Amino acid sequence: MVAQLVKEEGILSFSNIRKEMIDLVGGKGANLGELLSQGIRVPPGFVLTSKAYRYFLDYNNLREKIISILKEEKDSATASSRIKQLILSAEIPPDLEEITLNAYEELVKQVGKEILVAVRSSATAEDIESASFAGQQDTYLNVERSQLFEKIKLVWASLFNERAIEYRKSKGIDSSKVEMAVVIQKMVNSRSSGVMFTLNPANGDRNFIVIESSWGLGEAVVGGMVTPDEVVISKHDLKIVDRRISKKNLKIIYDPHLKANREVEIQGKESESPSITDEEAIELAKLALKIEKHYEVPMDIEWAIDGDLTFPDNVFIVQARPETFWVSKQSRQEPVTATTGERKVIVKGLAASPGIAMGKARVLLDIKDAKEFKKGEILVTRMTDPDWVPVMKVASAIITDEGGITSHAAIVSRELGIPAIVGTKDATKLLRTGQEITVDATRGVVYEGRIIAEEPRHEVQQSTGLTGLSRDVLLSLYPVTGTKIYMNLGQPDMIEKYLDLPFDGIGLMRIEFIVSEWIKYHPLYLIKIGKPEEFVNKLAEGIAKVASAIYPRPVVVRFSDFKTNEYRNLIGGEEFEPEERNPMIGWRGVSRYISPQYEPAFRLEVRAVRKAREEMGLKNVWVMFPFVRTTWELKRALSIMGEEGLRRTGEFKAWIMAEVPSVVMMADQFAKIVDGFSIGSNDLAQLTLGVDRDSEILGRMGYYDERDPAVLRSMRRLIRIAHRYGRTVSICGQAPSVYPEVAEFLVKEGIDSISINPDTVIYTRRLVASVEQKLLLNKAR
Ligand code: PEP
Ligand code: MG
Repeated sequence: MVAQLVKEEGILSFSNIRKEMIDLVGGKGANLGELLSQGIRVPPGFVLTSKAYRYFLDYNNLREKIISILKEEKDSATASSRIKQLILSAEIPPDLEEITLNAYEELVKQVGKEILVAVRSSATAEDIESASFAGQQDTYLNVERSQLFEKIKLVWASLFNERAIEYRKSKGIDSSKVEMAVVIQKMVNSRSSGVMFTLNPANGDRNFIVIESSWGLGEAVVGGMVTPDEVVISKHDLKIVDRRISKKNLKIIYDPHLKANREVEIQGKESESPSITDEEAIELAKLALKIEKHYEVPMDIEWAIDGDLTFPDNVFIVQARPETFWVSKQSRQEPVTATTGERKVIVKGLAASPGIAMGKARVLLDIKDAKEFKKGEILVTRMTDPDWVPVMKVASAIITDEGGITSHAAIVSRELGIPAIVGTKDATKLLRTGQEITVDATRGVVYEGRIIAEEPRHEVQQSTGLTGLSRDVLLSLYPVTGTKIYMNLGQPDMIEKYLDLPFDGIGLMRIEFIVSEWIKYHPLYLIKIGKPEEFVNKLAEGIAKVASAIYPRPVVVRFSDFKTNEYRNLIGGEEFEPEERNPMIGWRGVSRYISPQYEPAFRLEVRAVRKAREEMGLKNVWVMFPFVRTTWELKRALSIMGEEGLRRTGEFKAWIMAEVPSVVMMADQFAKIVDGFSIGSNDLAQLTLGVDRDSEILGRMGYYDERDPAVLRSMRRLIRIAHRYGRTVSICGQAPSVYPEVAEFLVKEGIDSISINPDTVIYTRRLVASVEQKLLLNKAR
């Protein structure tokens, strides 16, 4: 009876799988089946379902043994190794072995010769969360027939990784009830491979499909190691309209003797001959159209042509994800291609948040007049501060006289996904309320009138655009990176909008938004009127909103980093805040927390964090200290935090911002008292170069630049020293969001995580993955 069941549903080939079958075939299996059902060819294979796993357990009477180990063994590490041992030494039931081999033979028959397969874990619905938490994504590539069952057992055993057991314990999930499916898929023996886009990546034109192709495995193209051949195909008649054949000097192939990928030089004719035939290119284009139709957004697709198979069965899709660069910057090409009449530039400034908008300007010099502002108007003002956020939220674009690209207006606009131009010097004088304008915030130019025929899409593509897929399936569309990709977030409500994005945590949660928009009162004033709990509760609520939405991924909550002028604007603030000449380098960050005046308010901030962690159970909340200058002040602040019951432990981390150069200089000393650093490149550039980050004069002259060698050298130094002392380094300043080359530099230097603005999460994840791949290849050479 049981054996019969296994025969029926113990093994399913991809063609019998649909996306609803996660319980049986896991997230990965379901995704592959779904693609295939849409006519999108993936490398052939089958899934050993959760039923097969169950059958294996029952056949060996492992269930009770696992339950009793989990019960009696308090130490998860020991429980893990005992259970894994049980699984690895158990026997695969002969009939299960037989049907697995039959399925494998079917694959071999299709190919006509011995093949290599990938054996991958595919977590089922109940266990998806802990699987992704525990990194239980075991995949074995290039597996030979003789190793097949060993690898299958290894994948099953990975259900009981120590971290997975721990995680389930913490969530009250019974580890003996979780199950795992195993995907077995032919390794593509890539004769040629590459990427393709369902739009022209050079200008965003959606009428074309562009295929980039080279010999061997795809890493050569993705990692930029060769200049690929390029084929451009028109979408409406599937005709090749352009073709460029390049000289391809190398390829990467799998070497079965080395059991590793190897780079091979290409000489002679092969290097200059086309790596893809016309019929293959057209077949790829057809698949691309199907994928684009299915996901309803332009796609960025990795493909391969298998040298073992014949056309058209040899043409495979290996990865498909939404194209983000042009979708988010769709507007870029629009002023160029679809303008009406002549364009008159009224004012220029720094492009702070990309996108385009058209509409009526509203010049607003004083926030007291906010009532006049109508939803959808373009806000023109001198500079924004936290009081302006409610107006910014309903504006269709923002233009300021003052400020650089790390100013308040710039940072908030990017988070909101609103086009913004800052530092125009005199926009408030040159623009009139009611005037129709076009804001091209990608180039930093404001035009008179509406210069685009149709209404532009100015919103940044912050969600993946894919609907109806589980988070696990969605995330499987993006590359895994060794460097964690975190996101910056200030406004708790915005988390819902960004939930689908592939980020590993919040690397900077600026609490100033909660204070100025939700609490509104100065904390010392609330203490004075006997309502300190109001501050604690609302702050905890804001933190919890984000931390619970993304649990168990970490949220790094930064203690308040208002400057005196900003604190003064809070209700009741004037009484407690002196007027400083240079607030930017004044009573800011830790210097505040340890001062007798502000210390009671700092204690409220700590209490809010503790409330979120302990009362609400959100153990994924960590903290970060901004604007740290010296070790003595930090020690004092840490001990105040300790007095309030928050102490660093393995699971509660305290980071500091590395944004004052003294932290870089004394990194070895700081490393002894904190768990990690996060580079505040906005302030670090300002203070290293002596350039006011808000000075539009210096900004326009090009002085404010985080890519300056002095700043990069500081970052490198910090990473090296921190790692010597076993501490992690992240970055949460704007630099990697604005300059991909900074992200690349940091990955090469070995940074542990990068925290970026929501609009660049997908782009940066891809970039980091390709840089990492290249580093690995270089190492392997
Ligand atoms: C920074 O300085 O880089 C940073 C992230 O902090 P802020 O921009 O809030 O000063
Ligand atoms: Mg800073």
